[in-house]
Amino acid sequence: MTKVLIAEDEGRIASFLKKGFESNGFATEIVDDGTQAAARARDGEFDLVVLDLGLPEKDGLEVLADIRARGERLPVIILTANDEIDTTVAGLEGGADDYMTKPFSFEELLARARLRLKQADDSEVGVLHAGAMTLDLHRHCVSLGDRIIDLPGREFALAEVFFRNPGEIISRQTLLESVWGEDADPSSKKLEVYILYLRRKLGDEVIENIRGRGYRLCPPEAAA
Ligand code: CA
Repeated sequence: MTKVLIAEDEGRIASFLKKGFESNGFATEIVDDGTQAAARARDGEFDLVVLDLGLPEKDGLEVLADIRARGERLPVIILTANDEIDTTVAGLEGGADDYMTKPFSFEELLARARLRLKQADDSEVGVLHAGAMTLDLHRHCVSLGDRIIDLPGREFALAEVFFRNPGEIISRQTLLESVWGEDADPSSKKLEVYILYLRRKLGDEVIENIRGRGYRLCPPEAAA
């Protein structure tokens, strides 16, 4: 069973979270101070941590630093009050996966928790998802419905950049450097050539050209 560590010192919020997760089939454990949170997160028993920033003894960011210092990839979602946003952004840089501001809807937290758990699973098995497409990082291919499309060398490297940032506009320069290295010639047309190769294989509409800004992966929607 997927187990969530709830680190929250406000009893009302902690039990709201516990109830919500448990009614959706998760196991939970509540800790109400930072020292316990860091200690419990160390046990390897949990799949996800929901971490309040304002915790007694050790604040949420210190707990997070503690978790990441051990190289743990345990997904962490920070809960924060509105006036702590600056700190929270620092938290994301310090290795949190996501954050939510209080008050928040449980449905939204649950959706984000599921997404983070899925990403954690996927990175273990070595696949990246974008809409209805899946990129296999070991076999260097994309699956789309019942089609398996092999991507040799640079085509795979280029696809990987897109799959790691689905829906985001990625600049030409970033793409060039990610695939051909930092000394890639910015005037080179090879990026356009490889975009063309990928479009031929995946579909023209799958890679959108945003004039003057870069390219974006627009994968077909996954079936609901
Ligand atoms: Ca608090």
